[in-house]
Amino acid sequence: MKILDRCVGCGNCVPFCPFGAISTYGKAIIDKDVCRDCKVCIRYCPIDAIVEK
Ligand code: SF4
Ligand code: SF4
Repeated sequence: MKILDRCVGCGNCVPFCPFGAISTYGKAIIDKDVCRDCKVCIRYCPIDAIVEK
C-alpha cells in the first residue's frame, strides 16, 4: 500500500486497519512489516490518499 502526498493526516484510516499497521505523524505511515495488504484501509480514506502500489 502507498500513502500519497495529498494525505492530510486526519487519522480516519488508523482504527480501520485490522493489524494496527497505520500511524500518523503529520501524515499517515504504514508499517510495511506489519501491513498484510488486505486493502481495507483504502475504503476509509475520505480523499483517496491510500492506493495499491
Ligand atoms: S492494507 Fe490492510 S494491513 Fe495494510 S495498512 Fe491497509 S488495512 Fe492495514
Ligand atoms: S484517512 Fe486518508 S487523509 Fe486521513 S490519515 Fe488516512 S490516508 Fe491520510
